[in-house]
Amino acid sequence: MKMHNFNAGPSVLPQEVLKKASEAVLNFNNSNLSLLEISHRSADFVAVMENTRQLVLELLGLEGKGYQALFLQGGASLEFLMCAYNLLPINGKAAYLDTGVWSSGAIKEAKLLGEVIVVASSKDKTYHYIPKNYNIPADAAYFHCTSNNTIYGTQIKSFPKVNTLMVCDMSSDIFSRQLDFSKFDMIYAGAQKNMGPAGTTLVVVNERILGKTGRTIPSMLDYQTHIAKDSMYNTPTVFAVYVSMLTLQWLKDLGGIAAIEKINNAKAALLYAEIDNNPNFEGLASKEDRSNMNVTFILKDDTKKEAFDALWKAAGIVGIKGHRSAGGYRASMYNALALESVQALVNVMKQVK
Ligand SMILES: *Cc1c(COP(=O)(O)O)cnc(C)c1O
Repeated sequence: MKMHNFNAGPSVLPQEVLKKASEAVLNFNNSNLSLLEISHRSADFVAVMENTRQLVLELLGLEGKGYQALFLQGGASLEFLMCAYNLLPINGKAAYLDTGVWSSGAIKEAKLLGEVIVVASSKDKTYHYIPKNYNIPADAAYFHCTSNNTIYGTQIKSFPKVNTLMVCDMSSDIFSRQLDFSKFDMIYAGAQKNMGPAGTTLVVVNERILGKTGRTIPSMLDYQTHIAKDSMYNTPTVFAVYVSMLTLQWLKDLGGIAAIEKINNAKAALLYAEIDNNPNFEGLASKEDRSNMNVTFILKDDTKKEAFDALWKAAGIVGIKGHRSAGGYRASMYNALALESVQALVNVMKQVK
């Protein structure tokens, strides 16, 4: 049976990417060796790393603008600390927007290194909206936000204009919609939501913002170390980078972010229309802030839960149970999830009596 994979992360990848990846595990580039048993310094793998970094900048429209794309380890969770290490000067302060568990995690780490101003928070309504009209202190070294809140299903539609550096955790919506990415000085994203498998983290950083904190940064936590060594300071996660490359190539062949955004918009429109029109369901996120990637909703009448759960399971749908801290349901609709999978979910929602 065809499975409809709505997992939040790790999550759905294109079938053709999985097929090519499995071939490379057995015989990489007709070398009769596995991708997993060759040196990361071999010409074949160096080409993979270079190509992947290049694809990132190309898809984001950031070529020739001073940006570097890095593939690091430690997840987006380590970037919470690393961005502060690299951008928050000794005795400086940073401004953070708190839109959920992941933002709070970033705030917690930055506090280890300096003063953090939380400019606004949506915690008062369990993060089901995006705060607006807040002030960012003029003396903040940078402003940090989370573009898409994976757990609550909210997404920043309009980013604030800032007079300082702009840092964004785009773990769950990078490459899903067109933005002027040059407005961001630094972007990071764990690969496992919308770019590839778990194991690597993408960091896109403008080189000109680095080296200004006055801190001694441990080598592994210093972006300049990784830039100088082309993301090969230590052994990179070869498989995760390779599969990310295949996924980015798949996206480029499809027509890039502009093309996938249209499909993502169609998927979101289809599911939100059902949530709004079907009296059995209710969306959790404030309408104007609804995420096109993670759709959160509840059944209004809990006694229908057993019937609904049986329906979607029988239809081959997986991964729509809500996050443990939000409850209800969450359908994650990353780039590789087909419109027909969303249609399958809508069809079973219609069957709830
Ligand atoms: C999943 C997620 C994280 C955590 O990513 P890890 O790679 O597991 O550290 C951080 N931020 C956002 C927005 C996420 O969705």
